[in-house]
Amino acid sequence: MLMEENQNLDETRECQSKPPRRRSRWVLPLVILSILLLVCLTLFAAGVLVVMRTDTFKGLMGQAQVAAKCQVQLQTISAALHRHEISRGEYPQSLDMLYPDYLPSRSAFRCPADPRDPNSGPPSYSYTKPAKEASETSVVCVCDRHRIVKDQPPVRIMLLKNGEVSMTPAAGPVRDSRHK
Ligand SMILES: [Zn+2]
Repeated sequence: MLMEENQNLDETRECQSKPPRRRSRWVLPLVILSILLLVCLTLFAAGVLVVMRTDTFKGLMGQAQVAAKCQVQLQTISAALHRHEISRGEYPQSLDMLYPDYLPSRSAFRCPADPRDPNSGPPSYSYTKPAKEASETSVVCVCDRHRIVKDQPPVRIMLLKNGEVSMTPAAGPVRDSRHK
């Protein structure tokens, strides 16, 4: 009877001592896996930082910002053209005619990528006066001064008659931004 009790006690002890051993078997691989993940994440973050510090990346971001400013400027011109059309019944013959009644500053005619004096000289944008019956998606102003990616053709930023501004590769076909 005593032997049987001892045996039961031994079995119970064995059962109690097993789970910790099983747990300890998984702890080491988990720690190694966590360390590997941490190393991978650190290397990835370091790689991203290195790319962000390169001149190419900075140049790309700078060019994209200048192109975005040009688009905002074209929207300002679009609003002025619209005001001119409402008050005079037609678009002006040239962009210069918007100043000073419809645009208070001539600097709006100068693309941010154009290094010339913003307050004198001809506008940076090529302008085509749209006919009254011209389609709403006909191109009114074009800017070809933005080379976003080095050694690639510049992009073409266009203002459409309906006031939308779209951007395409310069050599590509004129694209209506509403058909994205
Ligand atoms: Zn521009």
